[in-house]
Amino acid sequence: MPRSVYRTCHLCEACCGLEFHVEEDKILSVRPDAEDPRSQGYACPKGIAIAHVHDDPDRLRRPMRRTPAGDFEPISWEEALSEACTRLAEIRDRHGRDAVALYVGNPVVHDHGAALVRQGLIKALGTRNCFSAGSQDTSPRFATSWHLYGSSFVLPIPDLERTDYLLCIGANPLVSNGSVLTAPDMRRRLRALRSRGGRLVVVDPRRTETAREADEHVAILPGGDAALLLGMLRVLLDEGRVDREAVARLARGFDGIERRVRALEAAALAAACGIPFDTIARLAREFADARTGSAYSRIGVCNSRYGSLGTWATDLLNLAAGRLGEPGGAMFTTPAVDLSRLSSVPGMDGHGRFRSRVRGLPETLGDLPAACLAEEIETPGPGQVRGLLTYAGNPVLSVPNGQRLDRAFSSLDFMVSVDIYLNETTRHADLVLPPAWALRERHYELIFTQVAARNFARWSPPVVEPEPGERADWEILVALSEGLGGGMTGTGPLDRLLRAARQRGWSATPDHMLDLLLRTGAHGDGLLPKPLRFGRFRDGLSLKRLSKMPRGADLGPLEPGVTRRILHRDRRVHVDAEPFLAALDAWASDPTLGAAQPGELLLIGRREVRTCNSWMHNVPALVSGRERCVLLVHPDDAAAAGVADGDTAILESRIHTGEVPINLSDEMRPGVVSLPHGWGHARAAATLRTAGSHPGVSFNDWSDDAETEAVVGQSILNGVRVRLRAAAQAEAS
Ligand code: SF4
Repeated sequence: MPRSVYRTCHLCEACCGLEFHVEEDKILSVRPDAEDPRSQGYACPKGIAIAHVHDDPDRLRRPMRRTPAGDFEPISWEEALSEACTRLAEIRDRHGRDAVALYVGNPVVHDHGAALVRQGLIKALGTRNCFSAGSQDTSPRFATSWHLYGSSFVLPIPDLERTDYLLCIGANPLVSNGSVLTAPDMRRRLRALRSRGGRLVVVDPRRTETAREADEHVAILPGGDAALLLGMLRVLLDEGRVDREAVARLARGFDGIERRVRALEAAALAAACGIPFDTIARLAREFADARTGSAYSRIGVCNSRYGSLGTWATDLLNLAAGRLGEPGGAMFTTPAVDLSRLSSVPGMDGHGRFRSRVRGLPETLGDLPAACLAEEIETPGPGQVRGLLTYAGNPVLSVPNGQRLDRAFSSLDFMVSVDIYLNETTRHADLVLPPAWALRERHYELIFTQVAARNFARWSPPVVEPEPGERADWEILVALSEGLGGGMTGTGPLDRLLRAARQRGWSATPDHMLDLLLRTGAHGDGLLPKPLRFGRFRDGLSLKRLSKMPRGADLGPLEPGVTRRILHRDRRVHVDAEPFLAALDAWASDPTLGAAQPGELLLIGRREVRTCNSWMHNVPALVSGRERCVLLVHPDDAAAAGVADGDTAILESRIHTGEVPINLSDEMRPGVVSLPHGWGHARAAATLRTAGSHPGVSFNDWSDDAETEAVVGQSILNGVRVRLRAAAQAEAS
């Protein structure tokens, strides 16, 4: 008999509710769950197509080993895990701990099992060469939170349900469905904001899908966000619009900032962001005068040249206008499992505690910037990376100078990938270990409940049970950790306890860890037996209780307050953290750094609602129809370059020259061109057959790994200097 299974969609941060119709082992259909209290019947095309990945004939079902001829053959799990651990341990023992690197892709943030055992794997490897997708999109946000609030996981988000003024900078939530902001169906939410009399202002070099819904679109220069935000702050200071009471109550070191910001020249600020200072001043007054308001900046800011400075300035603007922690402003969640609790564990959280060997780039949250992975592989000497373990990542497409990384991976002594596909990255692996995939695994949204517009907790069972012999992601990671001499959590005594439990035949899974974290959290039952529960513990959460709530638990709106979320001993926002002051001084000394030179354009990325970085491109329903991987060019720039709509033209950056299809679009700011990221599948066309038939080109063949953001070493993917030429012109020259 067909049955319905309700589950959170794990593909992006929105966490929509999906309803699966299932018969035995088959998923018959997927549709939006009309009764889901958060998404209320909304789901995007990716969510609806989720079962295609499940059924994809190209998805790996068994471990694969590279043969001497260069193709892959299936092998047993026992053989695969034994060989993986033996070879990685050999490299570690012969060349030192840092000789094995780890790269972790975005899917880890949607898999609570993998996320909870990841630290165990890092400890078992013992390497400092850990890299993740975060340094392509979020490291500035983590570092800003670490310095200002004392934890990378204390993340201010706009109170969408109550705000009257949303300043949305470098974010396109109608397409991304929210980023560091979990709020399904953004179109409905933004329309609700406007229909209750609120104002939506979108700042972006392109008139994006979100900008088309807005009251105002401000077409900024790529990389100019910090200048815009600092300019707005200067206006608040100059015009006496700063909420002095809030600043005095919440912050440390604002005076020093004030002196620096007031010294910034209006003309320099306006030139750096390409927005007249009159407009900057008007936006500042509007923001300060609105009844409630929130400034929200995301990836376009994070992966620009001044990503950390821009993120810091966003929080500073919210603080100065009295918006931080206030209803309708930039608020903090009260998650059922609060990851900031882990920040107090020594070594777990931070920024700049160590640096990369070759270029000296700083770590953030334990990860080095992925832009330096290729040089760590290529550069001889102690600590040179010779072995690599990748988990659910495709850095050849997601890291700047992907072609260099592609070559570097070929030179490794050994590489193992935990992944469901043989893609542009994993095709280099000696061994590929495919997990059962998410729909056969349990699910709890551990990470994105930290940034949910309304507090919630939800645990979902597998949609279909794992097949015999299949292994969950966390099981593979734990097998690797233990094979390398480590344990499940990386915490010695706890690992010994868990191992002893398993030896006695008890199960010890990430769900046990989750249960402990839930029960001891802000909404938990306090580990108390039922008769002893009182007060907030009476109806408190445990995993058992949550598992009986198929659509999860609503844990209420965002609560006011800042101090309750600060981990610094003095309970104040450290706005004067040294890395940001240094970045501000550096910006002031050369506000034109990174600007386009005559004849150059600035390249920015873009995302489409039907794609999820690189990995949903093997789903026919998501890549069919018109060509999506095209360069958007303003008609004036196209005329200057001698290219026309539909042409294939030559795009050139410092590191790469290649062909791109052209679409003319007046939604671009003149001088700025846009190419979506995540494409470039020709390299894996044999094993990703659908993606290979719509290959596109990779944005990261043009982006430059030599240039990184100053504070955290974030990849600069927004504002890459390029030149555009007609193909015929290129041939003639
Ligand atoms: S927006 Fe789409 S991909 Fe994201 S959670 Fe919702 S259905 Fe899934």
